[in-house]
Amino acid sequence: MQDLVQLAPPVSQGQAAPETGPLIDTFDRVHDNLRISVTDRCNIRCFYCMPERGGEFAPVSQLLSFPEIMRFLAAAMPLGIQKVRLTGGEPLLRPKLPDLIAQIAEMPGVHDVALTTNAVLLERMAKPLYNAGLRRLNVHLDTLDRERFRQITRRDDLPRVLAGIETALEAGFRSIKLNAVAIRGVTEPDVVPLARFARDRNIEIRYIEFMPLDAQHLWSRDRVLLADEMIKTLSAAFGPLTPVPDPDPRAPATEYQYADGSVRVGFIASVSRPFCLNCNRLRLTADGKLRYCLFAREETDVRPLLAAGAGEAELERAIRSTVWKKWAGHQIDSPLFAAPNRPMYSIGG
Ligand code: SAM
Ligand code: SF4
Repeated sequence: MQDLVQLAPPVSQGQAAPETGPLIDTFDRVHDNLRISVTDRCNIRCFYCMPERGGEFAPVSQLLSFPEIMRFLAAAMPLGIQKVRLTGGEPLLRPKLPDLIAQIAEMPGVHDVALTTNAVLLERMAKPLYNAGLRRLNVHLDTLDRERFRQITRRDDLPRVLAGIETALEAGFRSIKLNAVAIRGVTEPDVVPLARFARDRNIEIRYIEFMPLDAQHLWSRDRVLLADEMIKTLSAAFGPLTPVPDPDPRAPATEYQYADGSVRVGFIASVSRPFCLNCNRLRLTADGKLRYCLFAREETDVRPLLAAGAGEAELERAIRSTVWKKWAGHQIDSPLFAAPNRPMYSIGG
């Protein structure tokens, strides 16, 4: 276990955030990756994210408008943000999302715009998204079993999700990744069929260890299906997996190659192999709160700044000072760990 004093930044030792240069924190981590949530609503209710009924949602009037998101980006991009991912809640619920994607894709300096979706609405949205300039999609799929999908998501939408994936492939998306949350006692039977589904379509799948970000506080460490266990299961089914030397050590997934050289498989092992020390991510919630970590217990409200017409310099100061406060890491294994007061759907995964 890491030393608990590392929870806090070494800061801050009185120093203010740098006013120029890359977007660094006090651990010298450079931030170039921004996740923007465009809504906290969702059309399904995965038990590891949403409550079965109800939930706290920001009033629609408090969601950042597209012009506000674009103004935020205009301030963030010159600080070195290169990758932008739109997420939610379910981002495809946000009206006119392709318009936002088109604007972001056209911004000078944006090297990469991606979207994470549950794919329920993808069948009709894939083509408009592609035409807007989106090229990278992460599709969330935990199981190919209709009954288990219903148990996990409390909705019977597996056929729509599968149709959405096929439509996205037909629409021209070449970079699709699957995200599968791995939960002990629930998804063990899905590990191999999902891998086969992905291999058959030449799609990379990433298994994500269950994190303590669920609205109903059902998480416990013994409910996490660990990356090492899944690697054993997949090796038994398809031959030994070999780790791929990582071209980008800051990417959260550790990647493996199958023995037959087919498409890779990844593991986002946030619990068993935390990657905080390489973290380059910053998050903007749908209601305009800037967060330096999924698990952060503090955030910066940039909505009032945007609403008041703040200029790029003021927004830059807010962004730099938020990153400067970033802690060493989430420390899920520490007795001091406390889940944030926002669940995953409200932060943006
Ligand atoms: N609704 C979209 C989706 O499901 O892809 C985008 C938002 S969702 C919050 C983003 C990702 O977070 C999904 O891939 C989902 O699998 C993952 N996720 C949600 N809750 C999680 C949890 N408690 N632990 C690990 N991953 C989780
Ligand atoms: Fe919705 Fe995504 Fe959360 Fe599932 S993980 S409830 S699809 S926001």
